[in-house]
Amino acid sequence: MKLFDVYPLFDVTPVRAKDVNVFDENGVEYLDLYGGHAVISIGHSHPTYVQNLSEQLNQIGFYSNAVKNPLQIQLAKKLAIASNCNNYELFMCSSGAEANENALKLASFHTNKPSIIAFENSFHGRTSAAVASTDNPKIVAPLNAQQDVQFLALGDLKAVETTLQKGNTCAIIIECIQGVGGLDQSTTAFYQGLETLCKTYGAVLIADEVQSGFGRSGDFFAFQKHGITPHIISMAKGMGNGFPVGGILIHPEIQASYGLLGTTFGGNHLACAATLSVLEVLETQNLMQNAQHMEIYFREKAKEVPQILQLKGRGLMLGLAFDFPVAELRKALLFKHKIFTGSSKNPILIRILPPLTIKKEHIDTFFNALKQEL
Ligand code: PLP
Repeated sequence: MKLFDVYPLFDVTPVRAKDVNVFDENGVEYLDLYGGHAVISIGHSHPTYVQNLSEQLNQIGFYSNAVKNPLQIQLAKKLAIASNCNNYELFMCSSGAEANENALKLASFHTNKPSIIAFENSFHGRTSAAVASTDNPKIVAPLNAQQDVQFLALGDLKAVETTLQKGNTCAIIIECIQGVGGLDQSTTAFYQGLETLCKTYGAVLIADEVQSGFGRSGDFFAFQKHGITPHIISMAKGMGNGFPVGGILIHPEIQASYGLLGTTFGGNHLACAATLSVLEVLETQNLMQNAQHMEIYFREKAKEVPQILQLKGRGLMLGLAFDFPVAELRKALLFKHKIFTGSSKNPILIRILPPLTIKKEHIDTFFNALKQEL
């Protein structure tokens, strides 16, 4: 059987990984500044993670959501403390798209309205309402295009208000730091304005923290820098450090009822063990502080490279903008210097999304390689 050929592959075969490094089948070591799409938060194969997941698997790996699972309750408690989002309730699923799908659906149930406001260059996933809210017509099938989504310019509060005045918007969905779209952010005044407008017009504010959450921005969630209280927060990626976990945090203004949401795999025992391990290591190794410190160091080093036009993003969710398309540069970094980096919708941007355990020496390695190539 052939694989359905949807991924253009780099000719690299990782077979082992440890912390910020992956190793191919010949034992060649790579520096991972991409974390497999921002997924690796506490480092590859972290000993706490490996031990907790192995122990959990030896106990019970999975049972459905028809029975009690104390690990979900333990996780909700820990997450409330770690994120400082004490008032919220937790629903678990298995991916970022599923998290946003549930967030949007819940917003529509709650408001009894059908339409969505999203922003230019957004990326929210590839399922029904999530892909319809993603600003990339190439990945939106005719089936998905039937959903009513308005894409507005990031920062344009006036356009948001005009759209809300139509009275049919159930949700505004936003990445406070855009990921795939190219690391754009708006101002605190804009995010606070969205919160106020949502209250005025009865819409649900959804913060998509799938990529920026779990400490990557230097705060637990990126929206926290702006002092807002979204109604729903979606999470995935770094939450499981590679185990497929997603979830939404739901403000108690939105009521649960039996059958409203559901999933077979979401919140299973292994998924909880993975997320509990991530929370434990984020705290014991002070990884959010490390993300803040490494951002400062990265910015200092970037000043030494005049070809870098702009350093976008925050924490360890960064983008280096050049005045040329970076595809060949990224290939050279990967094949000559053995460094994984990321791309974005914007062809002149290199994305940097390393494990949050990264140290100065790794940033030095990257900048030495970059300078050689430039
Ligand atoms: N939301 C954001 C901000 C993302 O960056 C992504 C994936 O890149 C998603 C949602 C979709 O997540 P997943 O690929 O786990 O479905």
